[in-house]
This record gives sequence, C-alpha cells and structure tokens, in this order.
Amino acid sequence: MTTIAPGGTIGILGDGQLGRMMAIAAAEMGYFVHVFGPDEMSPAAQVSHRATIASYGDKGALEAFAKSVDVVTLEFENIPTDTLDYLARHVPVRPHAKLLEITQDRLLEKTFVNKLGISTAPFTNVQSIGDLVKAVSQIRTPAILKTRRLGYDGKGQVKITGASDLDAVWAEMKDAPSILEGFVNFRLEISVIVARSVTGEIAAYCPVENRHKNHILDVTLAPADIPPHLADRAVEIAGKIAAKLDLVGLIAVEMFVTRDNQILVNELAPRPHNSGHWTIEGCASSQFRQIIRAVCGLPLGDPARHSNAMMRNLIGDQIDGWEKLLADPANSLHLYGKREARPGRKMGHVTKLFPLKEKPKA
Ligand code: AMP
Repeated sequence: MTTIAPGGTIGILGDGQLGRMMAIAAAEMGYFVHVFGPDEMSPAAQVSHRATIASYGDKGALEAFAKSVDVVTLEFENIPTDTLDYLARHVPVRPHAKLLEITQDRLLEKTFVNKLGISTAPFTNVQSIGDLVKAVSQIRTPAILKTRRLGYDGKGQVKITGASDLDAVWAEMKDAPSILEGFVNFRLEISVIVARSVTGEIAAYCPVENRHKNHILDVTLAPADIPPHLADRAVEIAGKIAAKLDLVGLIAVEMFVTRDNQILVNELAPRPHNSGHWTIEGCASSQFRQIIRAVCGLPLGDPARHSNAMMRNLIGDQIDGWEKLLADPANSLHLYGKREARPGRKMGHVTKLFPLKEKPKA
C-alpha cells in the first residue's frame, strides 16, 4: 500500500520548473508523471507523460487525475487544501493537507516553529490598522509587514521604518490578514533541505548560503560557510520540523544566522527548493530524486555531497547569456523552457562544482 514501484504514475500538482525537474528525475527512475496545473505547454508539462491543464478547483479534472495516478505530490505549496483533501479520498497525497494548512499561513507556521522551542524573528498578528499601530509599538522599527498568505520572493511585504506612514502602509496591504515581524540584521541567510520517508527516516542536505537580489534568490553556495556546531544545529532544526509535521516528502527550512550566531527560522517550503538545485550535480541523490523516493515509499538516497557547489539563477533577460555560460565547460546549464523572459521570472540556473576542499565562489 505504501510502496509505488517503478512503472507507477506520480501525480504532480503545479507545473513550473520544480515540477519539471521532479518529472525528469521520476522518468530517470522509471516512473511516469501526470502533471496538473493551469498552464498550456508549462515547464513541467513539456517533460511529463501526461498533463491536465485545469484550475485547482476543477473537481471533474481532479477526479480523473486522481484515478490516473498512484500517488500525488506537489511542487507549489499554495495548492488549496480543499483540493488536497478531495484528492486524498482517492489516492495517497504526500505531503498531507494538514501540513500545508500550517505552511500556507505565516502566523500558523511561525507559531508552530516557536512551539517546538525553535526561534524566529519576533512577530505578531495584524488584522487592522489598530493592530498595526499596537504591533509597531511592541515590535519596534525597523520591521516588516507580511501578508499571512500567498507571499513569495518578497511579494506582499512592506518594510516599516520610524518614518513610515502606517495608514498608507495598511492601505497598501488592502486589509489582508498579516503579521508584523522584527527586522533581522542577519549575517547570512541559509537553508536546509530534508527528506522524510514513509517510515520516518530522515536525510538532510548540508546547510547552504543563499544570497538574494531584489528579494529573489540570486546565488546558492554549498556548503554555507558557518562553524560546524551551527551547521549541526541547522540540520537538527530542519529534521525536527519535518518529523513534527509528519512530513512525507521534502521540506526546505529557510533560516537567518544572526551576527551573534543565533539561528532564526524564517520560512518553510514543503517541496523541492531553489536552494537545492545544486544537488543535481553535487550529490549522489539530488533533491528531485529524493522526493520521488520519499513519496513512492522507497528508502531515501544518500544526501552527502561529493563536491562543493555554486548555483546561480538566471532571472529574466539573464537567460540571454546562455551562450557565454555554455562556453565554460565546467558550467551545468539548466533552462526551463519558458517562452517569455519577463523581469523577475526564473528562466533557468547554472551550477558549477568545486572540490570539497575549496570554498565555492559566486
Ligand atoms: P520571505 O518571503 O519571508 O522568505 O522573505 C524574503 C526575503 O526577505 C528573505 O529571504 C530575506 O532576505 C528578507 N526578509 C524576510 N524577513 C526578514 C526579516 N524579518 N528581517 C530581515 N530580512 C527579512
């Protein structure tokens, strides 16, 4: 009941580049993929055996999809939980809807993390202009106002300083339930990706450093340049979160390392993550193979890296540099098959390996 053998069909909700790389890994491992998402000729549909192009609320399409697959997983964490509940009546859904309920809402997510004894930046619930005024006097500035739901790559976030006009800031949020969070003057941002199997086995990739530009991931360096006790603590935190969420699949835990070497959890993403793309070249079992193993009920692969690595995203018209990137034989270039290079859109990435003894360079 729990193992899906090669030859089976994996359903993937979401049709972007993460789904594309999951589908490629699944095919390499002998599985078929049926992708479900809103876009025609999407990055994932281009490389999948079957594609359903429909909205996540289309019950008829969901039922047919559920009947055609042996397990359902996702590449996009904002799939409505009703959709997951509906699918779960027909087929195993990994990760489960209850987990997504937590990670889709910043307030529930950070409250959950704090209850495990793991620190976050200070935060408080904001539902009105009155709440915001109170929250600013409690948390103080600088602070960041974030929508509880549906924010990514810095969307749905406003920085608040002592000079901010709070009425104007609240008007910008359009009454969306939000949290106010203390601004962390961090030394660096890191993430840890862990996989958890059906039997509760956990495999962690090394902590990596993430550098952002315009709120979008620019470069990942593997491993992060942090002392071993902090790396161990980061891995321990991610493993604990995965276990307590009863995850089957993959989760990325984004964290800040403060100037006094504290680790604060910022965000959870229960799916493959941009900061794990380097594992395709750098590890025996990439994050994409690992999630296929986990959701199919197979034992996990080895997450140890055989090389250090640098991964750089190609955003918008940076993709125009593909020829120059290919001219360096050490570069592994990945392009996502997106037709239009809009500003801020992730079009591809490039990975370069370094010997284990050498620091990876951006
Ligand atoms: P998020 O959408 O929460 O992942 O935030 C996107 C990026 O904004 C993070 O990767 C950080 O670079 C920055 N950021 C978010 N929250 C904070 C914070 N409390 N203090 C400082 N920077 C933050």
